[in-house]
Amino acid sequence: MEICHLCQDQIKKSASRKPHKDLVKIDECRIFIGRNPSGHEEQDYQCAVCQSRFTHSTDKNDLGWTLWQG
Ligand SMILES: [Zn+2]
Repeated sequence: MEICHLCQDQIKKSASRKPHKDLVKIDECRIFIGRNPSGHEEQDYQCAVCQSRFTHSTDKNDLGWTLWQG
């Protein structure tokens, strides 16, 4: 499956950036209370165009968007 250009751009975005228009939330938001006193959240998304899946984490400032491998 080819990754679409919007997803390729998404990989490079920081955690504070919004998902692109074809990314749809899957599953519930996961909230972690740990080393970060205020906790952080993870949310999974799937692209409606190319089916790529991302996890968005507020725990990482630079690379908040992680593409699922395989
Ligand atoms: Zn895509």
